[in-house]
Amino acid sequence: MGIFIFDPLTGEPTILATDRAKRHDQTGAVSSITGGQKPACFFCKGSEHLTPQALYQDEDNWNVRAFPNKFPLMPDHEVIVHSPDHTKDMEDFNHEQNVRIIRAYLNRVSFFGSQDKEVIIFNNKGGKAGASIVHPHSQVVAAKGFPGILEKEKGSALHYHNEKNSCYWCDEWREAVASKDRVIHESSHFVVFSPKACRWSYEVVLVPKNHKPNFGFIDEMEINDLAKVLPGALKAYKDSFDNPDRNYWIHTMRYEPYHWHIGFIPHLKVFGALELGAGIWVSDKATPEDSGKKLSAAFPVI
Ligand SMILES: [Zn+2]
Ligand SMILES: [Zn+2]
Ligand SMILES: [Zn+2]
Repeated sequence: MGIFIFDPLTGEPTILATDRAKRHDQTGAVSSITGGQKPACFFCKGSEHLTPQALYQDEDNWNVRAFPNKFPLMPDHEVIVHSPDHTKDMEDFNHEQNVRIIRAYLNRVSFFGSQDKEVIIFNNKGGKAGASIVHPHSQVVAAKGFPGILEKEKGSALHYHNEKNSCYWCDEWREAVASKDRVIHESSHFVVFSPKACRWSYEVVLVPKNHKPNFGFIDEMEINDLAKVLPGALKAYKDSFDNPDRNYWIHTMRYEPYHWHIGFIPHLKVFGALELGAGIWVSDKATPEDSGKKLSAAFPVI
């Protein structure tokens, strides 16, 4: 189990979790450290006995399955296997399967919300993005609160609200739509756009038009729409960059002032010294406007 340690000068949080060096490694993300062999996949159907007992699955003969992470970073750390298929992911699934995944996300966010905990759902695809298991899956961590970006966003959102009597993200998506160039896709319930201060080239944010702090508050129409728009954003990456390693994460909070959203980054480069040594991100492949144009052209018809 990991513990948080903090840099005394910068406050930067780190999870110290050396137990995880024992975990299986199918992508090579950690094999250079452990020298690990590539074992059979225990996320595939038929390997359920190799995982902890399910905490959520859509039906007995499951299409989506969630269970505790065998190598947890913190007491509440779960895995959501996207489907029984070892290679296919959201970009490839039919709509029904993507709805099942969104419902699994919703179930876990609601469950931890009922325990007065905040939740981060995240997805790592590929070794460069930090995935150690090839089989497409998301992860869920929950705690009373999270240091780092979520805490900063919450603090800044409160400040913004006090200054402008408005929500930062409500203003952001409207500004992106007005800018036109940064918009990648606009649906009835969501806007996918290139943020004006994108940290790495082709960073993307997906913001719901309806102001809700908590992902757990999404309604049926939003579930249906998100199950098209989220895979659409992933497909735009896949087709633009030859199936890149990538991450996405759901930022959600139980209480105002906040506005849940999803962030995405494709791994077209690795961290350099400015990112690591100075905390300064370098976006050197595209402006936010160029990124918006390229990804909107690649966004599938949904
Ligand atoms: Zn598998
Ligand atoms: Zn808002
Ligand atoms: Zn955020």
